Amino acid sequence: MKTINRDSLIQTVRNMVIQAATILNPLVIQKLKDAEKQETSSLAKNVLKSICDNAAIAKNDNIPMCQDTGVAVFFLHIGNELFFPYSLYEAIQEGTRQGYLDGYLRKSVVAHPLERINTKDNTPAIIHTELAMGDTLDICFAAKGAGSENMSRLTMLTPADGEKGVKDFVLETIRLAGGKPCPPIIVGIGIGGNFEKCAYLAKTALMRPLDDEAANPIDRRLENELLEAINALGIGPMAFGGKTTCLQVKVNSYPCHIASLPVAVNIQCHAARETHVILKGEDL
Ligand code: SF4
Repeated sequence: MKTINRDSLIQTVRNMVIQAATILNPLVIQKLKDAEKQETSSLAKNVLKSICDNAAIAKNDNIPMCQDTGVAVFFLHIGNELFFPYSLYEAIQEGTRQGYLDGYLRKSVVAHPLERINTKDNTPAIIHTELAMGDTLDICFAAKGAGSENMSRLTMLTPADGEKGVKDFVLETIRLAGGKPCPPIIVGIGIGGNFEKCAYLAKTALMRPLDDEAANPIDRRLENELLEAINALGIGPMAFGGKTTCLQVKVNSYPCHIASLPVAVNIQCHAARETHVILKGEDL
């Protein structure tokens, strides 16, 4: 068996949190710059340029790119050769706590959704775990701001609704969202599974590299067709109009019941704060 030192795990998580808040993924920046070249409206061009300038300032000055530094969400793939002589969940929470405190990031979590008392350190993080083969701990982190998360939706279609029903629901979701998720956005779509599985599919779709394509040919075709359809809505950067409402669509699908067609749409704003680290286990 192998293990991962608790202190170095906490340090890694702390650094991932701070890095995500301050350094925008270069693939997102490239997409924003490409979009700026393609826009014909000067307002849309200016908005995209301002977003890129803001990202550069955040990186150079080590400050958050947005005031909403989000809820911390982790996706762990835990190798079956690893043993943790401590609470893995508690260590992730501690790294989150240190990251939000040391990075002077906004604390946006309330302890009870109705009582609404701030926990003051942005914990608890939301932690998803999956088992994997091997001796590594794969950690994906996302800081999800409320502006885009609040615009996400889920529906249980009937099989008869088919592909048209899926597309109509996605486009309706984006139209209803308008400028609230700070477009240009990235759209994660889950199709299939059941109620909770399709929400997870949509969220994990957002965690895929921005430049990859779905492995399934139907999902891949939907990604391309929906990207085009969303951008044809004309919402544009920060909803000032233009060709760039969406930078990328990601579709994940899963088998489902013969009587079901669940669909979830998870929206990510242009401030796509994500980091990914793989830690290798060491001898116990
Ligand atoms: S939607 Fe994104 S960019 Fe807009 S305020 Fe929220 S975190 Fe910031």
